[in-house]
Amino acid sequence: MNVILFGPPGAGKGTQAAILAETYGLRKISTGDLLREAVRQGTPLGEQARRYMDAGELVPDDVILGLVREVVAGDTSSRGFILDGFPRTIRQAEALDRMLEEIGRPLDAVVVLDVDDETLVRRLSGRRTCASCGAVYNVNTGDAPVGGKCRRCGGELVQRSDDEPATIRRRLQVYREQTAPLLEYYGRSSVPVHTLDGDRSIAEVQADLKRVLSL
Ligand code: AMP
Repeated sequence: MNVILFGPPGAGKGTQAAILAETYGLRKISTGDLLREAVRQGTPLGEQARRYMDAGELVPDDVILGLVREVVAGDTSSRGFILDGFPRTIRQAEALDRMLEEIGRPLDAVVVLDVDDETLVRRLSGRRTCASCGAVYNVNTGDAPVGGKCRRCGGELVQRSDDEPATIRRRLQVYREQTAPLLEYYGRSSVPVHTLDGDRSIAEVQADLKRVLSL
């Protein structure tokens, strides 16, 4: 099962992808996570990506494609993958099509998580991430641990540098201008596209995802 989870920043792609990956043994491939790890390790790629990420802009396609190609090509054993945050441009989508054809692993579905802008801004500004293990909490839903320590590993909870108001606005604009056109791209393809209401509880969205993916 090879799936793209699609939607604006804050739609819940990462959260839903993590649950699907854990439940069904699928590989979660999040370009945002890969880039943040490269930034954390201070690699040349991380250094290059950081300024784009902090400004809420997209990292150049060539950088992203190099990163994804390595992961997708090296991933022969898993039962399939869930792409989270990739592709984000038409060029990335076209390159993905070629990559998947080369390795003989077609896409089974694109699932779009639909959430309005007001909710996205509220979610993103309330998001807190564990600096050690990457677990995600939200202060608005009351699920962030009191004391600011991660429930899973005890790590420090921090706000992502791109979850600050001006950057959030820019990321939403970038999504509308550069990423949303992909909906048309996949609409014209033979891959089934399912649009789900993402403004519901994590469990409700997950149940709906399982239904449309026949899991
Ligand atoms: P995310 O965690 O998916 O919200 O990604 C955080 C940031 O990483 C984005 O705002 C971009 O700067 C960068 N990024 C992640 N995935 C991509 C991608 N597929 N193409 C370009 N930039 C990306």
